[in-house]
Amino acid sequence: MVSPKRIAILGSTGSVGKSALNVIKNLDGYEAWAISGMSQTELLKQQAKEFSPRYVVAADDSISPSISSADFADEGNDGPSTELLTGRQGLIDIARAPEVDIVLAAIVGFAGLESAMAAVRCGKQLALANKETLVVAGHLITSLAEASGTKILPVDSEHSAIFQAMQAGQEKEIGKVILTASGGPFRSAAKESLSSVTVAQALDHPTWEMGKKISIDSATMMNKALEIIEAKWLFGLTADQIEVVIHPQSLVHSMVTFTDQSTIAQLSPPDMRLPIQYAFTWPERVPGPAPAMDWSQACQLDFMPPDFDRFPALRLGFEVAEKGGSSGAVVNAANEAAVDAFLKSELSFTDIVTACREVLEHHNFEAHPSFEQLVAADRWAREEISKWIAA
Ligand code: NAD
Ligand code: MG
Repeated sequence: MVSPKRIAILGSTGSVGKSALNVIKNLDGYEAWAISGMSQTELLKQQAKEFSPRYVVAADDSISPSISSADFADEGNDGPSTELLTGRQGLIDIARAPEVDIVLAAIVGFAGLESAMAAVRCGKQLALANKETLVVAGHLITSLAEASGTKILPVDSEHSAIFQAMQAGQEKEIGKVILTASGGPFRSAAKESLSSVTVAQALDHPTWEMGKKISIDSATMMNKALEIIEAKWLFGLTADQIEVVIHPQSLVHSMVTFTDQSTIAQLSPPDMRLPIQYAFTWPERVPGPAPAMDWSQACQLDFMPPDFDRFPALRLGFEVAEKGGSSGAVVNAANEAAVDAFLKSELSFTDIVTACREVLEHHNFEAHPSFEQLVAADRWAREEISKWIAA
């Protein structure tokens, strides 16, 4: 019998992590070998009971008293019992454990970089949801992946679509990639109304159910900016090979135009379980829990150019993709801190992107930053945002 593929899920209590567990539950030959969460200990305990992983990582050291290996005792299970690991080191340990075949990087933000990088160093198959990893350290991650033989498989739905569409041609035949964007909750809002947007309005995404940070990023369209940078690193593109088109229905997840001008698109109802599953089973496709398009119903697909004036984040995304170096780390950290401040009602919605631009323009650009320089750039940009809020 072939032994099951063992998956370490970094961020199993999040939106992507929960979808991933649902995929694994429906998939023969794959097991959740390790899971991790930050603060949702009750959910972690439940997931441990249901999936009997070898390890559970409580990433926040301070919560470890409320969870212990005794929580995972399962009388019905005669395999090795589940053990608890804690903190950053616990995440790194599961990302590079020799038993692990696939690492799903589904932690949100810069916090996910270190463990994703550990997986890449060890040559694991990396199912990458944490786009911030490539935004911050694309040059380091891609060269480490090349050295270790790591295959990075995109989980982000747009990048999964591009990856799938690219299989219709050869690398040298790729002309452009077209990232689709739903436009978020303010797609048709008047520019003047955006400064008074509330947290609840900004979190109310029209087509996707996601974590808070990416939901706000979708509302500002910073998510698309991060995805432009992500696409550059994943597929070795230049910024002028990337286009963004608004597609409110979120059915066409992205497209590739080849040099003969043929455009190949990938379609499916908006459900992250499909790209997550493909990142696990690639190069194979197998039946799974994600629904199919229902062609028995009338369906409309709309496409329109984005409004760079109402959504200035997009321009930032293209600029950072072109510039590279330390600018990705700076814009990412500024955005994380600004989104956090917006969620605490300390910053207005439109100030998120304005603050990011200002911080980007004031930073000391480094063309080939080391990991330590990226960490320093991240810290610097967060401090700049805190000054911006205090001012
Ligand atoms: P989420 O907020 O729902 O979940 C985040 C996960 O990370 C949780 O398990 C949380 O416990 C963990 N976490 C948070 N901070 C941590 C820290 N400091 N250290 C360790 N663990 C920590 O987020 P999400 O929506 O699932 O998104 C996860 C990643 O996937 C993000 O990078 C996001 O951009 C990307 N992504 C998400 C979707 C989606 O549909 N949700 C789609 C595409 C890409
Ligand atoms: Mg996406």
